[in-house]
Amino acid sequence: MARTVGRLAPSPSGAMHLGNAFAALLAWLGARSEGGEVLLRLEDLDRPRCPRPYALAVMEDLAWLGLDWDAPPVWQSERGARYQDCLATLAERGLVYPCYCSRRELHAVTEASAPHGAAPVYAGTCRGLSPQDRAAREAQGRRPALRALVPAREVALRDGLQGPFRADLAREVGDFILRRSDGLFAYQLAVVVDDGDAGVTQVVRGRDLLPSTPQQLWLQEELGFPHPRYYHVPLLLAPDGRRLSKREGDLSLRAMSRRHSAGEIVGRLAFWAGLLDRPRPVTPRELVGEFSWERVTRADVTVR
Ligand SMILES: [Zn+2]
Repeated sequence: MARTVGRLAPSPSGAMHLGNAFAALLAWLGARSEGGEVLLRLEDLDRPRCPRPYALAVMEDLAWLGLDWDAPPVWQSERGARYQDCLATLAERGLVYPCYCSRRELHAVTEASAPHGAAPVYAGTCRGLSPQDRAAREAQGRRPALRALVPAREVALRDGLQGPFRADLAREVGDFILRRSDGLFAYQLAVVVDDGDAGVTQVVRGRDLLPSTPQQLWLQEELGFPHPRYYHVPLLLAPDGRRLSKREGDLSLRAMSRRHSAGEIVGRLAFWAGLLDRPRPVTPRELVGEFSWERVTRADVTVR
């Protein structure tokens, strides 16, 4: 079997918090427990929101926890030319079209059509625009986003933690954005190209990203990348049931490190993950031997 290559992929748009650390610990253990490599990628596509000092702080936090990596970090903000190449490959195959819809137009359509609570599916308004239609919109000074033209096809995967998951691309995902109208490449494209180029074989990330996995599987096929194995891990929730976020300043690793050692925090994370029967100070390295996905909890964890 090919060597396992896992990755840590933080988005450095703020201070690292316990939820990020939880997913990072499991990603690191998933790869190390198979004797695999761990890569680090900074998901700083939205450069103004992800200034370099934040990224450096995230790297320090990971190292402080005892999570290491085996190659120089990859920065998404430096890979625009590569994303553009892959976009061109898709365009040559007729899988990309410009979308001139304004936010307001998109909102009006999805309000009317999306069932309550469902992710909005693009109505395909700009799919069939003629060259004249496009020229008319360009003449108005409208700058298009670029969308993927998805086929009417079901894509299925077996997630290592969440089990089987499937989605009909046309009906449930829709023609998703590859590049925004302001030129920013979409996460969906960047993550597929980055993992593909780096030879990543194991993707461990929060369960909230499971619904976007079918479109990534489809992009992998269209760009000639093999599918990695997926493990979508539970989320850490605040006592009010909301997902931990960067707003809970007191749960940032920096704030916690003033009261707790790295070992205490790792031990708490491992306890929440189901890897320890009680919280006790431990290093990530000490957890490697005993780690198995069967032991990892499937249910979200409320942090008190
Ligand atoms: Zn449109």
